[in-house]
Amino acid sequence: MVNKMMFVLLKQLVKKPATNPFPVKHAPANVTALIEKVQKGEAQINPPVPVPEGFRGKLLYDPERCIGCRLCIMVCPADAMEWIPELKKIRHYVSRCMFCALCVDVCPGKKFPGEEKAVKALRMSEEFLIADYDKYSDNLIEEPPEAKEPFKKEVKDAAESEG
Ligand code: SF4
Ligand code: SF4
Repeated sequence: MVNKMMFVLLKQLVKKPATNPFPVKHAPANVTALIEKVQKGEAQINPPVPVPEGFRGKLLYDPERCIGCRLCIMVCPADAMEWIPELKKIRHYVSRCMFCALCVDVCPGKKFPGEEKAVKALRMSEEFLIADYDKYSDNLIEEPPEAKEPFKKEVKDAAESEG
């Protein structure tokens, strides 16, 4: 019994490891330095494990396709959507989202002339590497471009008044 176990263990020793070394083979001592190296083409990132079909990653919003029906706001269980009354569009907070896709299911979207059917204004992407230092970073807020500047100022003023 012991001999058989030893044999199995020894066999494992010569087998290739089953782990996926992401982002590089050994954990980098300095992530910023690694990113700089990758940008200069001096290092390569080992890709993460591929996502399956239908994966629910970061939600993307196309304001051009939004008809302002507010259905997404009504169904969102995480309160991750905000109504922008002056634009009649929405703002999506990725940091609040729980990736349930209820809003995608309910979104009617818009049909442009010449198209056969409407295309939803919301869709789940395959993006999941979305860690950030700031929950209000551009990467974590989906909104029409014309809403960006006033909103940024609002957030900055609120942060300053909080001290
Ligand atoms: S995916 Fe779910 S939690 Fe995220 S915004 Fe849509 S309804 Fe809300
Ligand atoms: S994103 Fe879709 S569901 Fe939400 S307001 Fe726009 S059209 Fe309606």
